[in-house]
Amino acid sequence: MICPKCGSKNTVPIVYGLPSLDLYEKEQKREILLGGCCVTSDAPCCYCKDCGNRWGNYSEYVDKQRQELLKRFERHKEE
Ligand SMILES: [Zn+2]
Repeated sequence: MICPKCGSKNTVPIVYGLPSLDLYEKEQKREILLGGCCVTSDAPCCYCKDCGNRWGNYSEYVDKQRQELLKRFERHKEE
């Protein structure tokens, strides 16, 4: 992911929902950013550690990931 504002690659995904211990540890290491429990329809999915910019659309991002998983699943069925 590249920050659209400053062009930095120093970005992390924003994770929503009730965080697990694993996610807390990841946030401590600054591998992700915890966005809280509530996901609004315009919640951003990416965070730039250099300029603090947040962008993207979390629900679209989740949809894309779900479709990727489905595609992988379909491929397994064919094999
Ligand atoms: Zn940035």
